Amino acid sequence: MLKDILHFSSINTQTFDADWLKANNTRLDILRIDKIHPVVSGNKWFKLKYYLEEAVSQNAQTIGTFGGAYSNHIIATAYAAQAIGLRCIGVIRGERPKQLSHTLRDAEELGMHLHFVSREEYNNAEKIKPDFPGVYWISEGGYGPVGVKGAAEILSFANDLASYTHIVCAVGTGTMLAGLITASFPHQQVIGVSVLKNNFSIEDEVRAILPDKHHPFKIVYDYHFGGYAKHPEELLNFMRDIWTEHRFPTDIVYTSKALYAIKDMITKHIIPQGSKVLTVHCGGLQGNLSLRPGVLPFL
Ligand SMILES: *Cc1c(COP(=O)(O)O)cnc(C)c1O
Repeated sequence: MLKDILHFSSINTQTFDADWLKANNTRLDILRIDKIHPVVSGNKWFKLKYYLEEAVSQNAQTIGTFGGAYSNHIIATAYAAQAIGLRCIGVIRGERPKQLSHTLRDAEELGMHLHFVSREEYNNAEKIKPDFPGVYWISEGGYGPVGVKGAAEILSFANDLASYTHIVCAVGTGTMLAGLITASFPHQQVIGVSVLKNNFSIEDEVRAILPDKHHPFKIVYDYHFGGYAKHPEELLNFMRDIWTEHRFPTDIVYTSKALYAIKDMITKHIIPQGSKVLTVHCGGLQGNLSLRPGVLPFL
């Protein structure tokens, strides 16, 4: 069962200790939900939780979802399906390569049936679904109100949640952000760091899945480092420094960019001095396996 492979009791809060925090009299706490599983991103379980419940209650035998070759959501869904005894289909963007990415290889080993489609077909999910009757579908990245409901539970693991002035997280589909917004207090500013380049429609996409459409939040667009999965040397150097100084592992897609953004916003006083900031580490380190071995001193 799921609860046997997940370690919720190991979630903890780590207070980050750095000169740029001391200099600005700011505290940064990191909620380590990455600790629930070594491979599967923490937030993916939270986002999947109520979809899986719904699938089971509808007596679905098979769940299906969508993703790319390095998708944390694909591997999480494959694990979850295996653990609760459902069959699963992963609709994968692009042709089947001669050599599968480690993510897809692992997903296949976990029993996920991989169905490769062209980019064009991928962008038209509604046309693919009828080919697989009876499947309970979960949208890419778990995006949707059901995913938000699960993601809102992430903050129940924070101690003294009300004491934070800012809550910051990385934004892919924005489902986790919507969950954090939902669970936050009115006096807190919730900031999402967009990891996709110029993805300005994300604000509307987040609002569309919020139970309270008027809840304020902010998205910053300056920290994508060239786009999703782009990892210039500047970002890799930042990740190496954070590892050397703090023994803190980050992934190239999300957590590194969020942490970089937090440092930059604190240093530039966009997050004012004296603030108490909470961020979430969701893991996703398996994505670093797409790098050449040795590029990073960890993983
Ligand atoms: C998926 C993921 C995110 C982003 O979550 P969204 O809900 O899609 O915005 C952030 N960090 C990690 C490690 C992830 O795997």
